[in-house]
Amino acid sequence: MEKIKALKCKECGKEYPVEPIHVCEFCFGPLEIEYDYDYIKSIISREKIENGPKSLWRYVDLLPVDNPTVGLSAGFTPLIKAEKLGEKLGLKNLYIKDDSVNHPTLSFKDRVVAVALSKAKEFGFDTAACASTGNLANSVAANAAASGMNCYVFIPANLETNKIIGSLVFNPTVVAVEGNYDDVNRLSSEVANEFGWAFVNINVRPFYSEGSKTLAFEVAEQLGWKAPDAVVAPLASGSLYTKIWKGFNELRTVGLISDNPPRMYGAQASGCSPIYKAFKEGRDWIKPEKPDTIAKSIAIGNPADGPYAVKVAKESNGDMEIATNEEIIEGIKLLAETEGIFTETAGGTTIAVLKKFAEMGAFDPEEVVVAYITGNGYKTMEVLEGHLNTPIHIKPSLHEFKEKVIGEKVAK
Ligand SMILES: *Cc1c(COP(=O)(O)O)cnc(C)c1O
Ligand SMILES: [Zn+2]
Repeated sequence: MEKIKALKCKECGKEYPVEPIHVCEFCFGPLEIEYDYDYIKSIISREKIENGPKSLWRYVDLLPVDNPTVGLSAGFTPLIKAEKLGEKLGLKNLYIKDDSVNHPTLSFKDRVVAVALSKAKEFGFDTAACASTGNLANSVAANAAASGMNCYVFIPANLETNKIIGSLVFNPTVVAVEGNYDDVNRLSSEVANEFGWAFVNINVRPFYSEGSKTLAFEVAEQLGWKAPDAVVAPLASGSLYTKIWKGFNELRTVGLISDNPPRMYGAQASGCSPIYKAFKEGRDWIKPEKPDTIAKSIAIGNPADGPYAVKVAKESNGDMEIATNEEIIEGIKLLAETEGIFTETAGGTTIAVLKKFAEMGAFDPEEVVVAYITGNGYKTMEVLEGHLNTPIHIKPSLHEFKEKVIGEKVAK
């Protein structure tokens, strides 16, 4: 593969051949794809991308896959100018990158799974697996079904009902582990060591995580080949956030944009904020914690890419904030009422944190700010119970309608 030189340890720099491996044998650091950017620069262009498929595969030259076969419709989601929300927050150029409508399972995870399983197929795997907080399981199960792979997904047993059903419908083996995501992840690592499966976020993780870069590529292209001034994105393992940063930097490296990359603002739930705490306390290491938040899709107490996310926040002149359960629900409602977009708890966290930063004056009113909405509200509806107006119940009569809905006094 000419565009890729090797896998490279992010800590000690030792190089490895391109194989389904993810940790350095010497220092246990994570492995990352090492590209040949000079070569990529010679084959890539805006025109080539614009004439490519209407999916994330239009950026295949910057992805670790030769022959995409899984998730062919993933990505290419709308970038929406958020006029009404922007007005509320005093931002004239606010955009929503709306991955709540990603294909096929309505979250940003359809990006990483398309890349991971296309690569898994290239490696010759016939079984897909993952450790998941919900959305990843949905996407692995759907894409495995569509591409004829066997599938095992591992989830915490206390997930939202709709997220569990959203995996079961594709008929994978769903393993509900009694414990939190970090317990699920630990077990999955042991299983991955013993069974020859493609665990998308374990042994295939170096390839999986590259899929998140397309969130940067698409935004830049949709803004007319420009980088925004600032972005707000949620943090679970910290992978998505660090890869958005990497994506904008790569576009500069290969000459597709000339702007500086954006300031990176990170969002966590106050009930699970180990990355936020490390950043605020000036630590480059993560103190693991036990999650207790309604934002289950981003509740990772021991985040693998936490230290790298802290570094990105610093390097980009960004910042991090947290949102309480109440603020998360307010965030969900605010986005719905202003922009007509129904996001899940992770998106509620992002909007709550966007609002905080806007109120703190972190953005100039004219700046281009992009908030990444990563998941769909129809999957976590139960969190809104008791927080919304209720329907007005009436008999099927015009009289009752006028009296109870319009509030007219009508003679009987
Ligand atoms: C998984 C997930 C994230 C963040 O994932 P990272 O592990 O930080 O890459 C954000 N939002 C939603 C809805 C998710 O499912
Ligand atoms: Zn190493």
